[in-house]
Amino acid sequence: MIEDPKNRRPFIYYYIIVLVIMTALNFLVVPFIKEGQIKQVDYGTFMTMTEKGEISKVDIQTNQILFTGKNDNVIYKTGLMNDPGLTDRLHNAGVQFSSEIIRKESPLLSAIVSWVLPLAIFYFLWNRISKRMFDRNSANSLMFGGMGRSGAKIYVKSSEGIKFSDVAGEDEAKENLTEIVDYLHDPSKYKDIGASMPKGILLVGPPGTGKTMLAKAVAGEANVPFFSMSGSEFVEMFVGMGASKVRDLFKQAKEKAPCIVFIDEIDAIGKKRDGQIGGNDEREQTLNQLLTEMDGFEGNSGVMILAATNRPDALDPALTRPGRFDRQVVVEMPDIKGREEILKVHAKNKKFAPDVDFKVIAKKTAGMAGADLANILNEGAILAARAGRTEITMADLEEASEKVEMGPEKRSKVIADIDKKITAYHEAGHAVVNHILGGETKVHKITMIPRGPAGGYTMPLPAEERMYRSKKYFLNEMAEFYGGRAAEEIIFGKDQITTGASSDIKRASAIARFMVTQIGMTEKFGPILLDGTQDGDMFQRKYYSEETGKEIDDEVRRLLNEAYQKAIDILNTHRNKLEAVTKVLLEKETIMGPEFEAIMKNEHI
Ligand code: ADP
Ligand code: ZN
Repeated sequence: MIEDPKNRRPFIYYYIIVLVIMTALNFLVVPFIKEGQIKQVDYGTFMTMTEKGEISKVDIQTNQILFTGKNDNVIYKTGLMNDPGLTDRLHNAGVQFSSEIIRKESPLLSAIVSWVLPLAIFYFLWNRISKRMFDRNSANSLMFGGMGRSGAKIYVKSSEGIKFSDVAGEDEAKENLTEIVDYLHDPSKYKDIGASMPKGILLVGPPGTGKTMLAKAVAGEANVPFFSMSGSEFVEMFVGMGASKVRDLFKQAKEKAPCIVFIDEIDAIGKKRDGQIGGNDEREQTLNQLLTEMDGFEGNSGVMILAATNRPDALDPALTRPGRFDRQVVVEMPDIKGREEILKVHAKNKKFAPDVDFKVIAKKTAGMAGADLANILNEGAILAARAGRTEITMADLEEASEKVEMGPEKRSKVIADIDKKITAYHEAGHAVVNHILGGETKVHKITMIPRGPAGGYTMPLPAEERMYRSKKYFLNEMAEFYGGRAAEEIIFGKDQITTGASSDIKRASAIARFMVTQIGMTEKFGPILLDGTQDGDMFQRKYYSEETGKEIDDEVRRLLNEAYQKAIDILNTHRNKLEAVTKVLLEKETIMGPEFEAIMKNEHI
């Protein structure tokens, strides 16, 4: 089905919508308006008014009589009566009267009039409109100012000059792509020996990890032209535009081969179709055109198509078939070393104070992609410039990294003293529990400056980056999440606990349920998948009976209650530490890791 490039938009879909609206209007609104103006009277009144000559006009219909009052000009209606003398009386009274020409309506005729005719008119109009607006040539000249054709910025000269060395980390991806670079240097070498190259390669990875950069770098290294388009552009485009743009893109690319064609966010056009009525037709047409183009040229023609996506599994299988995007190159989130390298690449033409340590920033920024890191350095530079400094300091970068991660600081918001106090105890509670548990994470920073939705936050960092998480890790994490609520309860009392713990509770609960139902971390159930996706499942589903469901709830509750009790116990035992950390926090608003450790190690507290 997807292969058919002549696939038309489901105009019937629009037709039905219009028809439904019209019918509804007809039934609801029109009679309502009319009814409001017509006054109903009984037949006797009609007769009396006729005799008195108060009627100017009568219209005898099949099911009622409409008549107009002479003096008031009001339209009246009354029911039909078997009244043979009516016409004589009306004639004598000098009333102008008429009756409908009664015809036996043929059901066929009425069907044609009420259904087929509007359909035909609608189809005619629809075709006219879509031809006018979306036809490629008239589109260019009439309304889009050439956007459909080459007005789209699809051609970027390779002299933009991005090289592999500009892309930090991602060694594996780069290695995979070197072959392509070599091929683009000299396609005939591969052609002569009979080696067939892939036509399309999928760059698979989260946003901001450098997929576009890598594609540009392939073009840069091979010194060939780079054409690009983005899948998301097409979804909002007018009918027919996407397909025509794809056609133009490939026409240009073939003329300039060897070259790179890069399609960003290919999932926007290449999503698996979900079979719903009236899906995005523009998307399908664009996709079909792309498939047609890919099938239409030889494997060794020198046009190499790179496409980026975060979700290769969500792509239509037609796209990943052999001869299309049949090869994948994974572009990963950077690890700590990668993050440091990326920071250094982007630090090249910026000035830094001697205290700047990219290792520390790299450690803090686990989970951030290259784009975020580039953003941090830029934000840091802005902060330094705003403060009138000539060098970017570590403090600038710390602030910038938090800004990038959590959204801008809300310094202007005035916070009530009691809320400050609650926040301080709450955050200190998280930190103290973390420290006493002595698990795999260490407190990097505690702060009570609100950021994003959080009133304050405690940032634990892994002592070393691990690939796996242990059961112990999760047990500790749950207790640490509850450290905030537990501190509130101990200090302010059971009925003074606040909403400040809402996201902590959410996250702890998610961990507990995950442990029980998905990762087999309880003795009660053992290693079994109770809730999740098995091979072939589209969505997460429950693999348990109702009775087991109750047991799961009990087990989740037990894990959470134990974690909460653990937090309470720790903070009761170390209440003096909790107080000490809170005191410093209230003074300084922010405590960094080493200072926190010092407080915890101080034997006099
Ligand atoms: P994607 O296409 O994967 O969404 P981009 O290639 O558009 O990501 O990356 C956006 C920006 O992030 C780049 O312009 C670059 O500044 C920065 N960036 C991302 N990854 C890296 C990396 N590995 N090395 C250097 N800079 C990177
Ligand atoms: Zn909290």
